[in-house]
Amino acid sequence: MNKVAFVTVASLLTQRKIQLQSAGDSQQIYYKLKSREEHLADALQSEYDVIIVGGGATGAGVSLACANRGLKSIVLESQDYASGASSKSTKLVHGGVRYMQQIFQLSEKNRIEKWDLVSESLRERSNFLSMCSYLTQDFPTLIPCNNLFDLGYYYLGSLVYHCVYLYYQTGGHTFKPPRIVGKEEIQSHFKFAKCNYGVIYYDGQFNDARMVQELLVTSSLKGTLNMANYVEVKGLLKDEQNKITGVQAFDKIGQKQIKIKGKCVVNATGGWADNLRLMDDPTVSKRIVSVAGSHITLPQKYGSRHWGYLIPKTSDGRVLYMIPWQGNMIMGTTERKLESPTHDPTVSHEEYMWLLKSFCDEFTVDASEAARDVKSKWCGVRPLVYQSDALSTKEVSRTHQIEVSKSGLISVMGGKWTIFRLMGEQAVDKVQQLIGKNQKRIENLPKLVGDWTQFDHRKEIQIMMKMFDLPQSYAAYFLTTYGDRAYDVLKLIYEKPENKESLHPQFPHTVGEILYQIRYEQARKPEDILFRRTRLGFLDQNAIFTVYEKVFQIMAKELKWSDKFQQQFLKENFEYIRKLEF
Ligand SMILES: Cc1cc2nc3c(=O)[nH]c(=O)nc-3n(C[C@H](O)[C@H](O)[C@H](O)COP(=O)(O)OP(=O)(O)OC[C@H]3O[C@@H](n4cnc5c(N)ncnc54)[C@H](O)[C@@H]3O)c2cc1C
Repeated sequence: MNKVAFVTVASLLTQRKIQLQSAGDSQQIYYKLKSREEHLADALQSEYDVIIVGGGATGAGVSLACANRGLKSIVLESQDYASGASSKSTKLVHGGVRYMQQIFQLSEKNRIEKWDLVSESLRERSNFLSMCSYLTQDFPTLIPCNNLFDLGYYYLGSLVYHCVYLYYQTGGHTFKPPRIVGKEEIQSHFKFAKCNYGVIYYDGQFNDARMVQELLVTSSLKGTLNMANYVEVKGLLKDEQNKITGVQAFDKIGQKQIKIKGKCVVNATGGWADNLRLMDDPTVSKRIVSVAGSHITLPQKYGSRHWGYLIPKTSDGRVLYMIPWQGNMIMGTTERKLESPTHDPTVSHEEYMWLLKSFCDEFTVDASEAARDVKSKWCGVRPLVYQSDALSTKEVSRTHQIEVSKSGLISVMGGKWTIFRLMGEQAVDKVQQLIGKNQKRIENLPKLVGDWTQFDHRKEIQIMMKMFDLPQSYAAYFLTTYGDRAYDVLKLIYEKPENKESLHPQFPHTVGEILYQIRYEQARKPEDILFRRTRLGFLDQNAIFTVYEKVFQIMAKELKWSDKFQQQFLKENFEYIRKLEF
């Protein structure tokens, strides 16, 4: 694009800003976000009400509740935001049809706990989708049936699931009731399906790593939150009465020890929660069970653009989801108990083969072609709270627990993505009891920053296509990734001709978008961009080899990495990069 065209685009962006403001919108369209360095500079001079350790779903949920109640807080994350379980989920916002089914099994021992879990999750499912319309959507899921007994059983089960949702619904997003579908309709979505009929029920889905980012940005824009990734909490600071007064941490980017003052600490470290609990009190017993779960990504041709598919009983009695996500199908998950949590768990050969076999057993597909078509695979560690009577990981509770230690460490353990908001609110209730502040929970559901201007996203995609001459899929990408902030990203992309350079012909990412993620979303390593700010690594592992070098160069220039640092970085990260080879 020539210089004149860039000037035109800049003036179009300004015009759109004026249009939105004159339409009575009180929110500004360009958001002023602090850099990582500005956040850390604030941190060294502040005393916080709450120090939140862990920048995954739980930490982000706690940060939102703190921001909404005006508590001064900071999130410290030892790696990148959402680099733990929170970027590696099945991306479902759900009540858990599996737990619903278990409630009605004669052998079930924890019926009441499961009921609470499902009803709580169904209520939060609606809240989740209405807080953040641009990153989420509801979608139909097919349960295939091969006989009339199964059809009746799954239809009734789905109906109960829907009725529980209707009973507990307190507003928020509405979901459609279940229905029965026949072969023709099934084949129009899943051409390789073998079943003759099935049941459709509704759940939600979302972009997990982007959700963490949007939650943190929303909280920080409210003015009371600081946040820094690559800061590992190494110890707790305490006074003479053994009460927590702050944390000792290591800034891995700045390579220095830092102390941060705070009235209490929330332990939101997921699978690593026991480490912080043991730092606080070496006599406590461990509570976390780490369970690895793997997924594979398959091309769209094997599934539907709009429907998910639930295999209700695999060869080892689990449920398996296949859901449409970002133009592909993701399939998972397995469950494998680990001795201890790890940051980069890998998909074992057995898990990979089991996922492929389950897929090939369910559909009429050629197994070797399907194996060749797998585009990505990944593994995450689910942090579950231990109960001694659980026989297998399938039976370890998915409920969350909040523990307050004598010195004031509030550990939020277990749970699932769907209920992050509730976990955050409950943790901050405990914070307030501890520090003696009693601001109430806000009554209305908070909206995330990308929804602040309340765009009609469908209309906005059309406007964006015309304004920037973008294909529909690219305009949709910007809107469904950044919401209102899409205009901030586009502003940077159109600021200079070189920012418009594409990274990969099949994806909408450009140099300008990467610059935005470095400057305003704290991306500090290529994998932060490849796996979490964009989702390239989850969608197409081969694509990351094409773009890794380019992303590395953009980062080196923007962050002014010396030649020595670049060499050292590549040396240190060689193993990591090699592991990505598919
Ligand atoms: C395979 C799989 C599929 C799932 N699917 C779904 C789903 O479809 N729907 C759903 O609702 N839920 C799902 N879940 C559950 C959900 O993903 C998790 O419950 C949730 O992401 C946990 O978030 P968290 O913040 O507690 O943990 P994490 O995301 O692991 O975050 C903890 C963070 O703490 C950081 N940390 C650790 N120690 C320190 C320290 N000393 N200093 C600073 N930081 C530290 C870690 O680096 C990490 O980033 C799934 C989980 C898995 C593994």
